[in-house]
Amino acid sequence: MAEQENSWNKLWSLIRSPTLREMVKRLRVLWALGHASALMGWDLETYMPKKGIRDRSVASEEISALMHSIATAPWLRELLSKAEKELNAYNEYEKGLYRVVSRMVRIETSLPEELVRREARITSKATKVWEEAKKQEDFARFKPYLEEIVEIQREKAERLGYEEHPYDALLDLYEEGLRSRDVDQVFDKLVPETKRVLAAIERRGYYPRWHPLEGVGYEEAKARETVRRILDYLDYPWDRARVDVSAHPFTIDMGVNDVRITVRYEGVDFKRFVYSTMHEYGHALYELQQDPRLSYTPLIGGVSLGVHESQSRFWENIVGRSPWYMLVLKKIVDDTLGVTRGLSAEELYRYVNTVRPSPIRVDADEVTYNLHIYLRYKLEKQLIEGSLRVDELPEAWDSLMEQLLGIRPRSPSEGVLQDIHWAHGSIGYFPTYTLGNTVAAMIWRSLGGPDSQQLRGPDVEALKKWLGERIHRWGRVHPPKELLCRSLGGEYSADALVEYLEWKYLRLPSQLPDVFKA
Ligand code: MG
Repeated sequence: MAEQENSWNKLWSLIRSPTLREMVKRLRVLWALGHASALMGWDLETYMPKKGIRDRSVASEEISALMHSIATAPWLRELLSKAEKELNAYNEYEKGLYRVVSRMVRIETSLPEELVRREARITSKATKVWEEAKKQEDFARFKPYLEEIVEIQREKAERLGYEEHPYDALLDLYEEGLRSRDVDQVFDKLVPETKRVLAAIERRGYYPRWHPLEGVGYEEAKARETVRRILDYLDYPWDRARVDVSAHPFTIDMGVNDVRITVRYEGVDFKRFVYSTMHEYGHALYELQQDPRLSYTPLIGGVSLGVHESQSRFWENIVGRSPWYMLVLKKIVDDTLGVTRGLSAEELYRYVNTVRPSPIRVDADEVTYNLHIYLRYKLEKQLIEGSLRVDELPEAWDSLMEQLLGIRPRSPSEGVLQDIHWAHGSIGYFPTYTLGNTVAAMIWRSLGGPDSQQLRGPDVEALKKWLGERIHRWGRVHPPKELLCRSLGGEYSADALVEYLEWKYLRLPSQLPDVFKA
């Protein structure tokens, strides 16, 4: 109980309004249920025995229903309308709290329980059907499920409401305040510029299309040691964080003192687990560096998927795939896996920075990745506005892929069936991946771009401090666009990303002999 009092006292230095203090106290149970759900989700993906799945689904559904009933309770609406009258007198934390809670209440009350349950039922079936359809290369099997999912998403968009385009209502679920207009403005520049840079890279030939290390195998025990050494180098706080193994790498947090990442070892092509570790580390660091005073409140947690992804992409690509990091990585891999001992740091750099158009999004390099997202964005928007039917989707996918990347998928698993997102009902989610890349490049530019001393180290401590101050510590206090304006000098824009790609892929190669000589 003393611990509880102590945490309130720290929070009360930020939250002074008695109305909001009462709200925070009464909403702590929601935080606790979120905590329990996160831990259950982690366990489901890591250690749960296979047959635990049925009971776990029942428990999860009950907890979700309980959370929904708290978020739609009359007492909460009463407190919110009282807070609304006090809004002008609030400080930034109080305004943030009011914004986050009213947004949650608005979303939860717009969607009737029947619709939420229908979505849960169809997506849990669709996920299994999608797996089989992908294995059997049979889009027709998945089609009726996707049709119903699209219908449900369209109904959700209508109920949530929007000003310009129904797709905006879905975007907002993943990235508060994001509209198609913002996404169009990013892609209008990014798509043609990416094609131009890609053509120049291919003409010059410094970055290889393929590297022989991609075919080299490794032992899992040694790979685990590699991961431990990388995370030690990044000063991963082992008393507040863990690493485990799962089929698909992810990060989950149970508050600022319990953050967990996972990794997958495939036995070949070690850069895959090295970079997924760097990626998840970036997500974990965001959670670990939040202001602990926000704990147990609706203000704790990353502000949006796009901002979260910017953190993972920053560590994965901008730090992790830089020439300066190669000296660090080579030492670690030389000592653990040993497969790089005969190679130069420059050769390692070329291995981790291959550039080749591929039909598969998750295999894409940092140059071509956003073209994959643009394809999904364009098709999703058409599905939601009703200008494209689900049965037209495979053909639309293949021809757009050919236009963007010059590749025609050889089968549905290489094309329209490759991602799990639609089976989960996640439409409007993909654009946040590109926002992550654009925001990561905005961070690069704010740090000084090519001249950044922190990146040339890399100076891990300085980078962590910089990100902590500008982004992490704020939790959800400021909405994403405002956070970006305050911390990085502008909203989502492709400018910094284009500048970064041009610098790294077209200008940097001529300076690399000096970098690697040092
Ligand atoms: Mg991620």
